[in-house]
Amino acid sequence: MEKSKLLKSLRFRIIMLLILVSSIPCFVVKQVIIGAYEDRSVAWRTAEIQEQCTILSHHLATSDYLNNPISGEVDAELSMLSNIYNGRALIIDEEYKVVKDTFGSDEGKTIIAPDVITCFAGSGTSYYDDEARYLDITTPILETEGDTTTVKGVILVSVSTEIIYETMDVMGQNANMIIWALWLMILFIGSFITNQMMKPLERIAKGMEEVTEGYDSNNLHVDTYAETQNISEAFNKMLGRMKILDDSRQEFVSNVSHELKTPLTSMKVLADSLLMQDDVPAELYKEFMEDIAEEIERENKIINDLLSLVKMDKKSSDLNIKAENINELVERILKRLRPIAAQQNVEVLFESFRPVVAEVDEVKFTLAITNLVENAIKYNREEGSVHVSLNADHKYFYVKVADTGIGIPQEDLDHIFERFYRVDKSHSREIGGTGLGLAIARNAVIMHRGAVKVYSEEGVGTTFTVRIPLNYIA
Ligand code: ADP
Repeated sequence: MEKSKLLKSLRFRIIMLLILVSSIPCFVVKQVIIGAYEDRSVAWRTAEIQEQCTILSHHLATSDYLNNPISGEVDAELSMLSNIYNGRALIIDEEYKVVKDTFGSDEGKTIIAPDVITCFAGSGTSYYDDEARYLDITTPILETEGDTTTVKGVILVSVSTEIIYETMDVMGQNANMIIWALWLMILFIGSFITNQMMKPLERIAKGMEEVTEGYDSNNLHVDTYAETQNISEAFNKMLGRMKILDDSRQEFVSNVSHELKTPLTSMKVLADSLLMQDDVPAELYKEFMEDIAEEIERENKIINDLLSLVKMDKKSSDLNIKAENINELVERILKRLRPIAAQQNVEVLFESFRPVVAEVDEVKFTLAITNLVENAIKYNREEGSVHVSLNADHKYFYVKVADTGIGIPQEDLDHIFERFYRVDKSHSREIGGTGLGLAIARNAVIMHRGAVKVYSEEGVGTTFTVRIPLNYIA
């Protein structure tokens, strides 16, 4: 695996997370234990030395060592004390002068240290320096005369705490070894567990690859985890949708070919029949040529409708949205269609409930309304009427196209928006339909984030309602 891929892998991240999460308590425990050990050791050592010094201070007081520092017994005790604790002991008299130094270097010198001053006030002190690793302990040398106790001198013991540090160091090293062992264990066990955990994901990836390669497998079923189950279901859904899209694409292509072929076949039959006959009268030629021109016109219409549909299938970014006066726009559409309606004695009425200004693509909106009104005229009866109304609320505007025509059977209502779907093929063809008008209208409305609804009663009439947001939602 490449380095960047390894760093990105879920397996690697889970293992790292385990190591991190387990390390935090380990380090905390290590610090707490070592810290507690240090505190305990220093306290224990301080108490021990203080006890020794208290005994020694008695000897010093009783042997009058401060005035006469020659006592073999006291010297032996002092050197034993400094040897055991690997330190130095100083005896200081009332004038802050060093009477005895086990190192022998400071005898006769004066020491005015804060600890010594505090000790002369009556109480012993202890000071621990963890940086320089030493412990200073002072103990007063008390002399009691009658009821009064006076401090005659001070024992200052300074010992190294190096041994405590060495022990802490060893403890730290042991703890680190345990942490390393833990990391190794997590690495091995984590690799094994994550391997097992990742298997369902690998199965999903493999299943998807098989589908991509065209392997005709069943749907994906990896139900090990709720998550993989969700992925499988989503994938199967997507696969199902792709199959539907593929089927509909194939159906569309075959429909288009069929629709385009029909006028061509008619033209071929007309042309052939003229060619096969000798001495065809000029009138027949004219009649057949008129039929051929009609078929060409039809072919042209289908191609134009197909082009409109393809445009509508494109992304909504192709929309040219502008604020338009919808009342005027609908008026203009109806004005253009009224002559066609008049040919069939159909009356077109427009009723507007309020002035409406909305953000629409003029061309595509016009195409949608034109197709609906054209259908309302085409599928109307003699002396029938088309009632177009415009209304709006605070969010949407509504265009209603109601006719008094032949109506649409209930079972066809769900299909009329499909491409090339026609309720009565021959009737639609007769009146110049392509079966694409409603598909174009619906796509145009959907591009505006709107919706089209249809209500119809056979023999009574049909009503299409278009609902479009006043402000375009990108
Ligand atoms: P066409 O080009 O055939 O009119 P459309 O997509 O516009 O295609 O309409 C599909 C079918 O729906 C039509 O063939 C027709 O049968 C039916 N239809 C559409 N509008 C109406 C209407 N206003 N009244 C009755 N039937 C209609």
